[in-house]
Amino acid sequence: MWPVLSLNRPLLWLALAAASASVWLPDLGLRLAAVLIAATGLWDAWRQVRLERLRSRLGQEALTVTEEGVIVTDAANRILAVNPAFTQITGYEQAEVQGLNAASLAAPRHDSAFFERYWQTLQSTGRWEGEIWNRRKQGDEYPEWLKVRAVSDESGRVRHYVCLFSDISLRKARERDLRRIGFEDPLTGLPNRRRLHDLLTSRLRHLQAGESLDMAMLDIDGFKEINDGLGVELGDRLLARFGERLARQVAGGVVGRLGGDEFLVIRTTTFDDHEQWVAGLQAHLGEPFELDGHSLRLGLTVGSCRAPEDGRESGVLFQRLESALYAAKRNGRNHCLRFRPSLDVQEAPRLALVNELRNALATGGQLELHYQPQYRLADDGLAGLEALLRWRHPRDGMISPGEFIPLAERHGLMAALGNWVIDHALAQMAHWRRQGMPEVPVWINISAMQLFQGDLEAALAAGLARHQVSARRLGLELTESVLLDERAGDVAPRLEALRERGHPVAIDDFGTGYSSLGYLKHLPLDKLKLDRAFVRALPDDRADAAIVDAVLAMARGLALEVVAEGVETAAQRDFLRAVGCELVQGFFYDRPLTVEALEARWREQALVGVSETASSAESLAQPQA
Ligand code: C2E
Ligand code: MG
Ligand code: MG
Repeated sequence: MWPVLSLNRPLLWLALAAASASVWLPDLGLRLAAVLIAATGLWDAWRQVRLERLRSRLGQEALTVTEEGVIVTDAANRILAVNPAFTQITGYEQAEVQGLNAASLAAPRHDSAFFERYWQTLQSTGRWEGEIWNRRKQGDEYPEWLKVRAVSDESGRVRHYVCLFSDISLRKARERDLRRIGFEDPLTGLPNRRRLHDLLTSRLRHLQAGESLDMAMLDIDGFKEINDGLGVELGDRLLARFGERLARQVAGGVVGRLGGDEFLVIRTTTFDDHEQWVAGLQAHLGEPFELDGHSLRLGLTVGSCRAPEDGRESGVLFQRLESALYAAKRNGRNHCLRFRPSLDVQEAPRLALVNELRNALATGGQLELHYQPQYRLADDGLAGLEALLRWRHPRDGMISPGEFIPLAERHGLMAALGNWVIDHALAQMAHWRRQGMPEVPVWINISAMQLFQGDLEAALAAGLARHQVSARRLGLELTESVLLDERAGDVAPRLEALRERGHPVAIDDFGTGYSSLGYLKHLPLDKLKLDRAFVRALPDDRADAAIVDAVLAMARGLALEVVAEGVETAAQRDFLRAVGCELVQGFFYDRPLTVEALEARWREQALVGVSETASSAESLAQPQA
């Protein structure tokens, strides 16, 4: 583009007049003066041309370097010029779009009312700004953020429109990802348990006459050994590859990961070949996986069922799949079993255990809380106690919470069990206070079921009032899966209310669920408990060391305290101390202790007499080296 020489410059006219005068003026002196004036004027004009050229080049340059796409149109919205960013975003070269109406670039997503409003705003205010969907040359549609300005001449008539836009598809995708968290298993990208419930429900609802649903719950045999033997990283990659292969095998069906090494497959079908279908899955996944020079052949245990024959409701079907899978596991490895009603009978031992748990709850005699101390790394002072539930079964001995808590959750006992824990922990704290024992915060674990089956808030308030303990002494630990369990509804406002009452709140087993930074930001929390999976291989595992470092940095940014779980060695402690972790808990310091053991320890240290007032907790701790 060539700059135009502006003609309304008096010096230019004067120079032209002087130039002609220099020809006819009689006096040599006057002629010389005219030449001088003409030269000055022409020099000024030349300077002006150069300046204009520079300005124009700068403008062009700016359009070239900007990452925003630019379109200049005439008053009829026909494209006159575009910049390189436009080509980069849309795929169109300038020559391909010149003369086209700019509206022809829009994706057919907006209705005529949208464009009416667009033009109204632009005409009345001279500008428009907002999100709009366009289409690239390659055909895909993308969202852009568009700013339009009308450019008018001196008389106020619109001559041009200048449109600036940026591609916001990445940003939108990130927002979508954030929304998706909680529905997707981050390791495999497959739907998670929660999403699978929804998908199964919707498949059941859309089942046509003559159609059935085949469902299979698959569990990889001996996955724990693979993980322990070859390392967690390889284990993770194996799970991802397993998920991929499974998804390819049941194209058109649903494949998801339930957690750990358990996957679920659902397909809608008109065939009556359930057993062959399952055998096919098993055979296909039995082919070896090649990973890092290892050839891994997996055994698979499968529980399966079919709707509508085996049930019409997703909750029931899930339960039956689990029954079938557990029964298959009892039959040894690499075994498939379809649900049959008699399995409910075979479940009898488990059901008997549920009944015994119910009785234990009613009498309270066999249940105990053990307490595992948490220590401050700065001075090895006692910072708190985590209450961990134990069941001392009269016949089977000590049963671990990992075994009976899922049972209690599945059979509707968790709210009652949770209330027992609340009341018992508070009673214990009141007792310690009366005895002059250290008054440190006690943390209890909260199950999702307590949030949506029981009335957690009422149980807490009643317990605090009964035992005269202040809420800030009773911390609540919730796992990520609890926070994201949609059956509990939006837990954020409830957590906020609990924190307002004074309860500290911690996210337990952090790193094993679906946490994302964006998500954490919105939750009212005081603490993160870093899962022991990340602590186990410290300090030698560089990946885990980096993760721990990153979590600590993030926690600092969010003003959260971090407790590292499962600290078993001095080397782990030293590493954690060096990277600035505040709190630790683990066998290196203490195993979960019975009340007697804990009290004996306190007495032994002779820092508290039975009726003395509480001494400072700081001086009580004595880590076992
Ligand atoms: P959690 O809340 O993450 O509890 C920590 C678990 O790690 C405890 O297992 C504890 O004994 C174990 N642990 C602590 N330090 C170490 C260590 O250095 N190395 C190793 N290998 N393990 C360590 P526990 O007592 O078997 O409890 C397992 C889970 O059961 C708990 O995990 C918690 O999720 C659940 N649980 C326990 N008590 C309750 C309860 O009262 N209510 C609910 N809802 N869940 C509970
Ligand atoms: Mg816990
Ligand atoms: Mg934990």
